Amino acid sequence: MNKTQEDANVTRPIRKVVILGGGTAGWMTAALLAKVLGATTQERRIAIELVESDDIGIIGVGEATIPPIQQFNAVLGIDEAEFLRETKATIKLAIRFENWGAIGESYYHTFGTAGRNLPFCSFHHFWTRARQLGIEGSYWDFDLNYLSAQAGKFAPTTGNDPIWDMPYAYHFDSALYGQFLRRYSERLGVVRTEGTVRDVQRAAGVGDIMALVLADGRQVAGDLFIDCSGGRGVLIQQQLGTGYEDWSHWLPCDRAMAVPSQRHAQTAPFTRSIAHGAGWQWQIPLQHRNGNGLVYSSRFCSDDEAAQVLLGHLETSALDEPRIIHFRTGRTRRQWNRNVVAIGLSSGFLEPLESTSIYLIQSAITRLLHLFPHDGITAQLIGEYNRQSQIEMELIRDFIILHYHANQRRDSAFWRDLRQMEVPERLARKIALFAANGTLVQDQYDIFMEPSWAQVLMGQGIVPADYHPLADGPSEAQLRRQLAQLAQLKARPLDQLPSHDDYLQRLLGQP
Ligand code: FAD
Repeated sequence: MNKTQEDANVTRPIRKVVILGGGTAGWMTAALLAKVLGATTQERRIAIELVESDDIGIIGVGEATIPPIQQFNAVLGIDEAEFLRETKATIKLAIRFENWGAIGESYYHTFGTAGRNLPFCSFHHFWTRARQLGIEGSYWDFDLNYLSAQAGKFAPTTGNDPIWDMPYAYHFDSALYGQFLRRYSERLGVVRTEGTVRDVQRAAGVGDIMALVLADGRQVAGDLFIDCSGGRGVLIQQQLGTGYEDWSHWLPCDRAMAVPSQRHAQTAPFTRSIAHGAGWQWQIPLQHRNGNGLVYSSRFCSDDEAAQVLLGHLETSALDEPRIIHFRTGRTRRQWNRNVVAIGLSSGFLEPLESTSIYLIQSAITRLLHLFPHDGITAQLIGEYNRQSQIEMELIRDFIILHYHANQRRDSAFWRDLRQMEVPERLARKIALFAANGTLVQDQYDIFMEPSWAQVLMGQGIVPADYHPLADGPSEAQLRRQLAQLAQLKARPLDQLPSHDDYLQRLLGQP
């Protein structure tokens, strides 16, 4: 087969990776690639260079995470106390959703698991039967994450009986996390170059990218380019014109207004998500301040109205002027195109309702490492990467749509439209299956497992009409007794747990 100049670049081994962008995505990518690829033999060692522009800066928001971030830090060998100190982090056990189902109601999406699951029959089936029998008690009474979040308590519980597992994540300052990982990456030999990319050099004019061209004329050559340039998508969109799949017909919010405020006297170990007339507000407790913001739809709410809602609902004094961020929900059509892989905001945007963007960065780097080319980039590797990336993002998208769609709010056209809209077919099937008999099917690549779907579905008011036949196993009297015992058992560690603030102070050595 004749090789064109375009093919030639694709088929040579990767000796140098160039990362464009020094936001959370850029430095997470640099850190993990340096850690893992640094283990290759001397002859095949892969050089990593990161280019970032001080003039452009980073997006500077993004404060809530989900538990897999612990694995990311663990692979890097990061000490948890040092990480918490450096990034001003706090513990996150859950998200409390307020006014999402109906105004005045709230529920928690925790990282925990309610009750104890039997093979083939999750706890929510027993709870559904109990509810039908008129047995009192909330589903969440059987979830230690919920009980601890409510009580404002925390200490790691792993190593004890798995029934007391309390998975957790962090709230942190993502800009500080980026800087923390920059120091880490540079120690492992990642080269940082400051400069603004103005152009690129491409093979045979329109082929693979060969080098970034900076404003002052310097060139940064490489074999594989990771586009972490944020919403601009400098390489994946501006240079390669990959195209964007717009999801705003399902998720109409297109702006966020962010403002930091003073910290509360007590730091809650959960994120708050408070629904308003045309969007929702986040409240994220860090060690030194609260992160706050309003995600809203400009079709239903002006910027002035958004400012009124956000500032009117701040519980502590603002520390800065509110800042508006524009976004378009959707995904880059091919997250890997030619020799460019888009990671972070350049790969697409999903609003931070379930704190998934930083996770998507982690997942993308992990996927890239799994599929890392040995002797050149192949169409098969690119195809598989894009297939997995697409499914993963669509599943998170569906989970976010669920929150909006399953609402009982009557107060605004925003919520009425969302309730009446046609949702993606896969989500419609999931809702119908659960509503009928509590069945949940775990899709491959779905980061959200059965307990997450069950909590959000029931929290938003979709309670199954029927349950799995195995839940009929115990007699009514046995079921009552078992549930009462289980609730007691679940709550047992609570008395021993310190408050979240005491835990952090002890760990971080503060007064
Ligand atoms: P950026 O931070 O924008 O970084 C882009 C980098 O590219 C910068 O270094 C910039 O200088 C560089 N660059 C761009 N163009 C050029 C050029 N021409 N030349 C050289 N360098 C260039 N995620 C979560 O997981 N949890 C959250 O709670 C959360 N909240 C969010 C709230 C809001 C309102 C928004 C908008 C996002 C939120 N996110 C959240 C997402 C999170 O902020 C991002 O995923 C994360 O910060 C990664 O951003 P990034 O590195 O892709 O882009």
